This record gives sequence, structure tokens and C-alpha cells, in this order.
Amino acid sequence: MTISTDTLHPDIRGVFLKDLEEDFRGIGEKAFRARQVFDWIYKKGATGFDAMTNLSPELRAKLKAKYSLAPPQVAAEHHSVDGTKKFLFSMTDREKVETVIIPSKTRATVCVSTQAGCKFGCKFCASGIGGWTRNLTAAEILTEILYAKAKSNLHPLSHIVFMGTGEPLDNYDNLMRAIRLINAPEGLGIAARRITVSTCGVIPKILQMATEGLQIELAISLHGYNDESRKVLMPVNKKYPMSDLIPACREYIKATKRQITFEYILIKDVTCSPEAVRELSLLFKGMICKMNLIPYNPVSEFDHKTPSREEMNDFVESLERAGIHATIRTPRGRDVSAACGQLRHEHQNAN
Ligand code: SF4
Repeated sequence: MTISTDTLHPDIRGVFLKDLEEDFRGIGEKAFRARQVFDWIYKKGATGFDAMTNLSPELRAKLKAKYSLAPPQVAAEHHSVDGTKKFLFSMTDREKVETVIIPSKTRATVCVSTQAGCKFGCKFCASGIGGWTRNLTAAEILTEILYAKAKSNLHPLSHIVFMGTGEPLDNYDNLMRAIRLINAPEGLGIAARRITVSTCGVIPKILQMATEGLQIELAISLHGYNDESRKVLMPVNKKYPMSDLIPACREYIKATKRQITFEYILIKDVTCSPEAVRELSLLFKGMICKMNLIPYNPVSEFDHKTPSREEMNDFVESLERAGIHATIRTPRGRDVSAACGQLRHEHQNAN
């Protein structure tokens, strides 16, 4: 995609309404015109100023002189038999970014990328294999979501999960700008409780997010039951160990009154053992949380195996007996490489 075709002009999708209103006053236009622009972008899905037919040609020309607004370019699109749709967008600098729409019976969730590549190199994730190239701008993040909204009209877009390529909290300012525009009534108007940020555990940013005054859902990629087991799969544990991460999570819960979800990958003979159950029950004692168990989705570069259904069910039962609420996430879109970073990685290998 050329998510933004024009590098000279800032993409209008990352601009707050109050700033656009101020701009309009500065050029002798009425402030309510800025709301009309927002309406075109966020409610009607306009991807060009010429679509904004209730604005005068003069105002459209002024907008073009100051901002860019371009449709995304799709480098690849895959539709799974289970309804999951995966898009690979091509940026102006030829970087690739992937976005996934996951429909349910009545609604759709979009899984959004926040960076081109990832620095954190978790040992089960395709996104980290090629390293990190750059952060996505707020406008690029919003463009992923607006495109998904346009493509999911049969299942209205209701939930946003920041679980695509990249570590969202490593791109904090752009993430928060995008979230405020997703949340704003004049933007997408999606409640903060329907927005989930998934992090590998960047503690200072978890604590910062707790002070934003937004009830954003927090998901922690845990994938280990103590520091020893976690550091095998997640190099980030060296910098931000579990012993500091769990108290930060407790602080987030206290500040936001939201339950935290711990994402936990199920890898045969690695993460599901009686020892894991014992350690996890101590870790989560008294905490409002749940576990989302993710069967390992094979990536050719890693040598892990997915446990059998029976092994996974046994693990869930043991967790429940230990007082931990856990559910196994149904894998979606496996036939279209829907796990984090897979399509992007395959595309890079092919080129
Ligand atoms: S799981 Fe998340 S943090 Fe880890 S490498 Fe993948 S994208 Fe990065």
C-alpha cells in the first residue's frame, strides 16, 4: 500500500479534530467544516479529498495543499475458509504491514500492526525474525483500521486488537494518538474497553498507559511460568523480568479496574506442565485476570510442536482446578498464515 502516498504532506488521518478546527480557522474556514472532514474519513470511509462533495472545490484544494489522504495499496489479500481475511499492505518505503479481520457471528475484530518488524525476537513469532525497520505512524495505524472497517461491512467492526506485527508499547506516542482517534466520538467511536493492547511486557509503558484515563484492555504475552522458563521464549524477560512485570500488571488493574488477559502459548513439552500450573497459580494469586491459551502455530524457522488436543484440555483443567480461568483460543486463519507476522515474513522470503 502506499498507506500515505505523499511524504511531503502529513496524512490527515493522524490529526485530532481540535487541531484541524484550528487549522481551518487559520485559513478563514468555519470550524464545523473540520467535523465534515472527520465525518467523511471516519464515518463514510473517504480515501480522497475529492469524495468530500459537501466541501467547496476551493477548500478541497486547500486541504490537498496541506494534507495527504490516499487509499491503501494492497500487496496481497488472503481469505481463509473460516472467514478470516488477511491483508498485506505496501508502504511508500516498500515496507510491508499486515492486518487481519476476524469475523464472528455478528461482528468483526481487526488485528492491527504497529511496527514494520519487531525488535523483541520472541522465539515462536515470525514478526521478530527479520528484525525491526520502523514504527508506523498514527495515520498508518488508522489506515489499517479504516480499510478493515470498509472490508467488514457484513460484520460491523466492533473490536480492535493491537496484536499484529510489532510491539505496540514500543511505539507508544503513535499508538496512543491512534487510540484516541479510534475512541473519539468524531473518530471511529469505539469504546476503550473494546480496544486491546497486547504487549510483551514493556513495564514503563504499561505504567504510563495506566495513567491515560482510558480503560484500554491490556493483554500480556506471558508465555512462561517463571523467569527461567519465560526467558527461553522471550528475550525481553532479561530487561523486564516477570518479578517486575506482575507487580506492574497489578498496578494497571488497580488504576483502570480492568481485568488483564495473559496470553500463553501452548508448546508441547515446553509450556504446559504440572510445574507450570503450580507456578502460575502462585503468580496470579488474588489478581483479576484470565489466561488465553494459544496453541502454537508452526513457523518453519522454529522447532516447536503443538500439543495434542487432549494435552491442551488436560492443561486447562489443571489450571481451572488451581483457580485460574483459562480458555483455549480457537486458531483462526491458519490456511492464510494468520499468526503474527507470518504473511509479511513469507512475502519477504519470496522477494
Ligand atoms: S510476539 Fe510480539 S513482541 Fe514478540 S516478536 Fe512477535 S510481534 Fe514482537
